[in-house]
Order: sequence, then C-alpha cells, then structure tokens
Amino acid sequence: MIIKRKCAACGEIKDRTEFIKITRAADTGEIVIAPDSKTVGRSAYLCKNENCIKTAFKKDRLFKVLKARKDSSLQERIEKFIDE
Ligand SMILES: [Zn+2]
Repeated sequence: MIIKRKCAACGEIKDRTEFIKITRAADTGEIVIAPDSKTVGRSAYLCKNENCIKTAFKKDRLFKVLKARKDSSLQERIEKFIDE
C-alpha cells in the first residue's frame, strides 16, 4: 500500500518514502529525524532537498507544525542527514 504524505514546506503530496520524516517524540519532547517505528509523536514530512528544508525553517514553520520548542541545531542536522 502506498501511503501519501504532504511536505510541510512546499505542500507537494508524494509517497512517504520520498520524504524525510521528523517527529517530536511524545514522551521525551525530543525532535527526531527519521525516527524508528517505536517513536510516537507529532510528525512532519519534508522533501529531501535544500529548498524545502530552508522554507521549513522560515518563520519557524516546522516548529509550529511540530508544536515544538525552537532548536537551532535542527536545520543543520536535517541538512547533514540528506547529504548522507
Ligand atoms: Zn517540499
């Protein structure tokens, strides 16, 4: 079954495997990039490209979607993640 998700930056709808998933863990409040299936929490999806990542951090959009506290290292961590 193909599960479709929507990019939190550009709004494009694609197969979820084409996105990076970012989850705010409900138990710890920690923001996890590409969490395992045991991590439960509020999630956002982003296209694996720099433009969408930049857009997601404009006006703290991603933090609003996740209802998370601002984390200044997160953008860098996501950019590193897609470079791998
Ligand atoms: Zn996008």
